[in-house]
Parts: sequence; C-alpha cells; structure tokens
Amino acid sequence: MTASGARWHNWARSESVVPARVERPTGAAAVQRAVLAAARSGIRIKAVGAGHSFSGIALAPGVQLDLAWSGLVDVDEAAGRVTLAAGTHLHELPALLAPYGLALQNMGDVDRQTIAGATSTGTHGTGGGFAGLAAQIVAVTLVTGDGALLHVSESENSELLPAVRLGLGALGILVDLTVQCVPAYLLHAVDTPEPFEAVLDGYLERSASADHFEFYWFPHTETALTKTNTRLLARTGRAPLGRLNRWVDDELLANGLYRVTCAAGLVVPPLVPRVNRLADRLTGRRDFTDHSHRVFVTNRSVRFHEMEYALPRDAVPAALREVRALIQKRGWRLSFPLEVRSAAADDIWLSTGYGRDTGYIAVHKYFRENPRNYFADVEAIMRAHDGRPHWGKMHNLDADALRGLYPRFDDFLAVRDRLDPERRFTNRYLERVLGP
Ligand SMILES: Cc1cc2nc3c(=O)[nH]c(=O)nc-3n(C[C@H](O)[C@H](O)[C@H](O)COP(=O)(O)OP(=O)(O)OC[C@H]3O[C@@H](n4cnc5c(N)ncnc54)[C@H](O)[C@@H]3O)c2cc1C
Repeated sequence: MTASGARWHNWARSESVVPARVERPTGAAAVQRAVLAAARSGIRIKAVGAGHSFSGIALAPGVQLDLAWSGLVDVDEAAGRVTLAAGTHLHELPALLAPYGLALQNMGDVDRQTIAGATSTGTHGTGGGFAGLAAQIVAVTLVTGDGALLHVSESENSELLPAVRLGLGALGILVDLTVQCVPAYLLHAVDTPEPFEAVLDGYLERSASADHFEFYWFPHTETALTKTNTRLLARTGRAPLGRLNRWVDDELLANGLYRVTCAAGLVVPPLVPRVNRLADRLTGRRDFTDHSHRVFVTNRSVRFHEMEYALPRDAVPAALREVRALIQKRGWRLSFPLEVRSAAADDIWLSTGYGRDTGYIAVHKYFRENPRNYFADVEAIMRAHDGRPHWGKMHNLDADALRGLYPRFDDFLAVRDRLDPERRFTNRYLERVLGP
C-alpha cells in the first residue's frame, strides 16, 4: 500500500510513480465518487492491483485507487461460480473456495496478484487445453468514465464481454468479477531434468497430451527441467512434498541458487554458466500429489525482470533454437532459465491466445541487471514468429504494431471510446499500446 505523497514501486522495481493522491474505496459507490471527483478536477484515475506487472501498465500518476476490499460477494453453487471483490488476491482463493469444493481451473506460477489485475493483463498458466484466467471470467461490474456502474455478463451488455474480461485497466474500474470455477482437484506432479533437444522435439506432442506441461531451460546447459501435472479427482489420496523437501527444492535450489548466481554474476559473469550447470545437476526428479494451488504456485523471493511472448504454438521449437543460437553468438551470461508454457485458443479480443493455440516463451533477468539488449534481441525473434507480448510484462511494441497482431484491436478501441471517451483511465503505457 502507498501512502499519499509516497513513491509507489512495482514488484520488479522496474516502474515507479508518486501518485497525486491515493484513495482506498471500499465499495462501488465510493469508486463512483472517486471517478466523478477526478473528472471534476480534470485528473486521471487508475486502480492498482498487487503491482506484479513488469510493464508500466499499473502506473497511476493522478489518483491511485487501492481497492482495499476483498472476498466473496456472491456464490452460485449450482453453477460453480463465485463473484469476488476486485481486490481479492489469488492466494486468498483456496480458503474462500474450499467450503464450496471449488478451485480455479488453472493458475500461473504465483498467487500474489489480485483477481482484477491478473485478468486485466491476460495472466495465464500452462496447459494446451486450458485458456488463460480471463476465459474463466463470466461477468464483471465496473465503473465507467462517466461514473456509471455497468454490469456485463452473458445476459447483460454481453457484446462488451470479450473486451472487459481483459481490459488492460483501460475500460473502467472493476468492482467485482464472477469466476467460473471447477470442482476442487489434485495434481500429480512429475518434475524431471531431460535433454533440451529431446524436450524441444517433444514439446508440441506433450503440450497437447498432458494436462499441464511446461519446461525451464537453463542457458549454457543442455538440460531442460520439465514439469508435467496431471489432474486427479479430489478424493484421490494426496502425497505432498515434505516441508523440508519443499524448502530445499523451492527456496534453496530455486531462489537461493539464483540469489548466489545473480550476485556472483554481477561480479564475475564467467561464473554464471558454471553455477547454471550446478543448478542443472542439483535439480533432481520429484514426484508428488497435492491440492492444485499448492502444485501450480511457487514462491518467488528473488526479484527479476521479465518479457514473455505468445507464439503460434507450432513456432515454439524453432524460435527457441534461434534464441539459443543468439545467446551463443552474443556470449551473454544468463543466470535465469527461460520458461516455456502453452495455452488453448480463446475468443477474448486482446488475449495473447486469441484465435490460436499458443505457446509462451518467457525470458528473465536479475532485477539489478539491465535487460535491454537481451530482451530486444529476443523480441526480434519473437516478432518474426508473429509473437504477441504479455501485457503485464516488458516489451517495446506500440499500437501500430499491436493492431496487426490482434484482429479485433479496433473493436476494443471502439469499446474504449464508448466506456472512457475522456480517457480518465489512461497512462503512458496505455497511450503507447492503445493510442491516445
Ligand atoms: C513473480 C511474478 C510471477 C508472475 N507469474 C505470472 C504467470 O505465471 N503468468 C502470467 O500470465 N503472468 C504472471 N505474472 C504477471 C502478472 O500476473 C500480471 O502482471 C498481473 O497483472 C499482476 O496482477 P496485479 O494484481 O499485480 O495487477 P497490477 O500489476 O497492479 O495491475 C495490472 C493492470 O490491472 C489494472 N487493474 C488492477 N485492478 C483493477 C481494477 N480493480 N479495475 C480495473 N483495472 C484494474 C491496473 O490498472 C493495470 O492496468 C507474474 C508477475 C510476477 C511479478
């Protein structure tokens, strides 16, 4: 939370701003009053979630709205749908949903985000048969630029649904969101180091056949760590990782090793490949079964910068081979692995998965290192494969480039003209990616 007059930073420390004013409304009427007051004084207003976007999408130089209310607004048990206050964090969901035997259909790899922030940027997990979080949003209530309260669902203003489910924060202040959940389930997880070349060859088949397949490739090694999660009924027995085991794997090997590599890498870059090879040797096979959220989510305590591109899934192996050749050619020392995931096609206008089965390639850099050259050169490869950048992560595209990547881009802009004609909710990032 930011106090008025204090500087706000995003998680990655890549963006910051001193908002003119910070407000913490605790209900729809208070949000409406805040939007009308901002309009009267001619300043912009923007809701911020958990600040987990790497891009400047959440920056609010005018009024920053910190939606300080969370939790269940309504539950439709028969339909398996819950309506959540927009400021609800994903990590609150397991406890909120457990009494109804429900869970999110899929999740990304952290749960610190708010439901409104996560859906607004197209947050996704992995699974060739599962679209991103926005595809599970079946209704929203938002406050539009004129201070009106607008409900959008399959039966009310339904023509707006493909825009407001993933609206980049550009269409209004979300007050609540209704999520289509699924019956709670377990995941059987198998994590194994495998030869990178073989993983590339098998990526398309495994993305299609496994429920949730992803892999990490450590630059300067020939190894990929594959993660394959299979959905099981909740009544199947759990076989969770022991506490110590989880700590050793997640904290010590994942975050702890990065901490050492990143610190060493800043001082002695040639050490990085050696430490990466150590990571590669230490990362063993593990096999466990647990509640879905405990398997999807990991703890990220080492800060980094990230760019992620969504490609037509078929293009992923070739694009990755090009990235490997680029890293060799440039002689970079990279301490973070690349992460490769997949998602099913959807019909949400600004979704990175719009209209095509998708594969994701994410690159990371320790937050104290300058990512510019690495990300720009990888971005050129992604663009050559018709890649679409994640809205919440770093990239350099503008509205002209993005229009060519999204067939319904102008339809989205028409909704923006309708819901926010005065551009109350814009900021520099939105001006760049959507236009004035
Ligand atoms: C460590 C880490 C791991 C991550 N893992 C993944 C991952 O696995 N998959 C993935 O896809 N992404 C991932 N991300 C990116 C992240 O999910 C997105 O950037 C997400 O938007 C962050 O949510 P937030 O609540 O922090 O929103 P913020 O970053 O605070 O805001 C994002 C956007 O939502 C808008 N917004 C927030 N609340 C409202 C509201 N009430 N009404 C209207 N607009 C609103 C903001 O104005 C802004 O435009 C990760 C990020 C980090 C830092």
